[in-house]
Amino acid sequence: MCGIVGYIGHREAYPIIIKGLKRLEYRGYDSAGVVLYDEKDLKLSKTKGKVSDLEERVAKEISTKGTIGIGHTRWATHGVPNDVNSHPHLSNSGNLAIIHNGIIENYEPLKKELIKRGYTFKSDTDTEVLVNLIEEVQKNENIKLGKAVQIALNQVVGAYAICVFDKQKPDEIVVARLGSPLAIGIGENEFFIASDASPFIEYTSNAIYLEDEEMAIVRLNKDLKIRKIKDDSLVDPYIQELQMNLEQIEKGGYDHFMMKEIYEQPNVIKDTYRGRLHANEGLIKMAGIEDNIDKFINAQRILIVACGTSWHAGLVAEYIFEEFARIPVEVEYASEFRYRNPIIGDKDVLIAISQSGETADTLAAIKLAKEKGAFVFGVCNVVGSSISRETHAGAYTHAGPEIGVASTKAFTTQITVLTMIALRLAKAKGTLSISDYHRYLSELETIPEKVSEALHTNDSAKAIATVFKDATNFLYLGRGYNFPVALEGALKLKEISYIHAEGYPAAEMKHGPIALIDEQMPVVVIAPKQGHYDKVVSNIQEIKSRSGKIIAVVTKGDEQVRALADHVIEIPETSDAMSPLLTTIPLQLLSYHIAVMRGCNVDQPRNLAKSVTVE
Ligand code: GLU
Repeated sequence: MCGIVGYIGHREAYPIIIKGLKRLEYRGYDSAGVVLYDEKDLKLSKTKGKVSDLEERVAKEISTKGTIGIGHTRWATHGVPNDVNSHPHLSNSGNLAIIHNGIIENYEPLKKELIKRGYTFKSDTDTEVLVNLIEEVQKNENIKLGKAVQIALNQVVGAYAICVFDKQKPDEIVVARLGSPLAIGIGENEFFIASDASPFIEYTSNAIYLEDEEMAIVRLNKDLKIRKIKDDSLVDPYIQELQMNLEQIEKGGYDHFMMKEIYEQPNVIKDTYRGRLHANEGLIKMAGIEDNIDKFINAQRILIVACGTSWHAGLVAEYIFEEFARIPVEVEYASEFRYRNPIIGDKDVLIAISQSGETADTLAAIKLAKEKGAFVFGVCNVVGSSISRETHAGAYTHAGPEIGVASTKAFTTQITVLTMIALRLAKAKGTLSISDYHRYLSELETIPEKVSEALHTNDSAKAIATVFKDATNFLYLGRGYNFPVALEGALKLKEISYIHAEGYPAAEMKHGPIALIDEQMPVVVIAPKQGHYDKVVSNIQEIKSRSGKIIAVVTKGDEQVRALADHVIEIPETSDAMSPLLTTIPLQLLSYHIAVMRGCNVDQPRNLAKSVTVE
């Protein structure tokens, strides 16, 4: 995920691009860059860091004259955030410049082929491969930029929103989208291009949002033509009149980043398995695992260390690893692990999970495990973060920047990565039957769609929030795979609504918490059909007998729990192992609505910080 801005028209492009990039910084902020065209040449400036760092560098490096330009604020997926990997990227001839939001899955074979043909690469990015592929097509076929972009994109697998500029044809910018957003603002003989409309809202209220698999040549003095990338057919442009203000646009029309991020989950789960999960071929390809597969297969045990929500993802992973790959797993709070003189040996694999990759306690646990000879693997969201540098190997979640302090999409993408690892190890160890292995691979591919369906529970979650917003305590219960989800549901509620909530394994209730239950106590029970359904139904009976108010998360079509519960929320059917990816969705929504109704600051809850870099 990143922010892209382009301008072509009669104004100075640079101030529009810089202001636009600042507004898009919520989409990515590890590096930034700009290319301007000044009637002679391309002027490129880019840097690791924020847009303000770019401004400083531009002031020293280039003249800001020119009425055409493109700019980028990056959220790295391929290659650490540094000056060279920052966008824009130029083609080998120096004629083409590109900015890109997304992931080119098949960049490796394309890169190999281009190297054979004499191309050289400065960066580690997938994007630099694309711009050179376009150049190669253009050169071979002797065609215009638009056509070359189209042919190149038909060879590409992945997701993108791109702007490409050719200094030999400086009256146009070619744009295209598949899976990443791209809006075109239409002014009086000027065009604005951006990831959302925020960079151009003060210049025009007319915008076209490109649909997936569409491209356009944005040309001065010409009508805008939109075409399908696949078959070149023309599409009627649909010009929308923008009615949102700046803040609403940045939040994608949602009132809070948290809600936006909850709704991003189908896409970011897909981004996380993109290029790694190949259900048709029965393969999981993750470089960090492939290169170290022996370490995992021969592991005496896997230790998972994390904090907060990541620790809950680790608990889900414990169930998945043990069931799929039959490797013993222990999950530890990093803060406890680091101070308790743990027994660690060189046959242990330690997996550290952290959204930011900067969590101080987790970093300390990594250092300790390394000292004792364990192999250390990181799962984090921020490319180039301290944890990604300190670990022997790792896998990124591709969730994009998470701005809401309460973690949502980081949790589900962490589980996605961990599930893929478990499946890969199960294949290597032969611990799952071939049919189960294939079934899980195919099922994981359907999860984004099912998460979209689970998001339809928003109205029910809101209605339930109205009833319970003034409660002072909540209990969350789940069993098996959904016990960690109960913990996570309770944590979400605590974090953003300041209501006391506890998560428990449902069967443990009778060992204490049952004493809390009376007619004032809302109890959220996660009771999908797969798993320990009958046992959970008995737990629900026990709550009902004590007049507790039952809010149940059930599988679509469930009758039995519906007959007992005060409120039900239905989610799509899925296997037990993958159910946390769905059951967690209504719990995120419930806590969100309760917090909003109580007037809490959802995105920045009191006393909390997004990245906990102190112990
Ligand atoms: N895959 C590209 C990179 O890592 C673009 C990432 C983005 O969307 O910011 O540079």
